[in-house]
Amino acid sequence: AADNVKASNVAKIKVVVRKRPLNKKELSKNEEDIIETQSNSLVVHETKFKVDLTEYVEKHEFVFDAVLNEEVSNDEVYRETVEPIVPIIFQRTKATCFAYGQTGSGKTYTMKPLPLKASRDILRLMHHTYRNQGFQLFVSFFEIYGGKLYDLLSDRKKLCMREDGKQQVCIVGLQEYKVSDVETIKDLIEKGSATRSTGTTGANEESSRSHAILQLTIKRSTDGSESKPARVVGKLSFIDLAGSERGADTTDNDKQTRMEGAEINKSLLALKECIRALDNDQGHIPFRGSKLTEVLRDSFVGNSRTVMISCVSPNSGSCEHTLNTLRYADRVK
Ligand code: ADP
Ligand code: MG
Repeated sequence: AADNVKASNVAKIKVVVRKRPLNKKELSKNEEDIIETQSNSLVVHETKFKVDLTEYVEKHEFVFDAVLNEEVSNDEVYRETVEPIVPIIFQRTKATCFAYGQTGSGKTYTMKPLPLKASRDILRLMHHTYRNQGFQLFVSFFEIYGGKLYDLLSDRKKLCMREDGKQQVCIVGLQEYKVSDVETIKDLIEKGSATRSTGTTGANEESSRSHAILQLTIKRSTDGSESKPARVVGKLSFIDLAGSERGADTTDNDKQTRMEGAEINKSLLALKECIRALDNDQGHIPFRGSKLTEVLRDSFVGNSRTVMISCVSPNSGSCEHTLNTLRYADRVK
């Protein structure tokens, strides 16, 4: 990352799509790859049937800031999405990177390595460019499940949120670890991820119904030393969203599932509206629409940057979900 990047040179909102490869199961079922990619556009080939059951293909084309195909590595994803933002969080910027998509489309695969790569760059800047200037890095990791907050670095302790009247949100009791080396950060990410995916029942299923939020916060003590209380300078949030298809669980037989589905639907809609409001520079940002957007309130006001990574599965069986994901991303762009 260039160290002298100006905030004004970094796009306010960036929307990229990442396509994963067909997996073994899809290959064994002879499923077709229906997504054709180019550097910043893609075409989805949807098979449809006429009344007389003859097949035809409908093509849907979308254009984004970047399209990352199945050959793109996690390193390249980092370079395309988060790396440009890292230097500007030292300049009073709050940035958020989202992974959106149906369960199994690669959200966690995409999201998990990003905070570690970002912290590596942040620490490098802190130890070189901003050496002895009193900057400190903090890590926290929590999830929103059914509209409630749980600390992933503290055995899923239930948390609550408070506003301090100055547009700052405070999550009461959230563990924030001060970190100065990559190994510690790696351990914390592993710990939090394990807590998330095992959940309360041990089923992997659970993570698809929760939003996981990992925050890297840069603080600085007012006099440049470490003796005075540090103030927040910038923040980088990584959000592994609940499976987008879960928002449709509103007709499930199980009441709990229905409620969770409604909450997820509400939060993904509110998120879309907030990002759109950001782009239009509207004064009013409808963050009160859900717990997710309320928690992110301080990342939506002031100097902010948003990166949306929309993850899609290439197989024909996922066509409808893929189109939904791309239409959502298209609205955000
Ligand atoms: P999600 O979090 O959206 O439910 P995952 O990230 O868990 O999806 O991905 C589902 C599976 O696909 C995992 O086994 C993951 O390792 C694999 N996968 C996802 N994206 C890729 C990719 N780009 N390359 C290779 N494997 C991938
Ligand atoms: Mg996941």
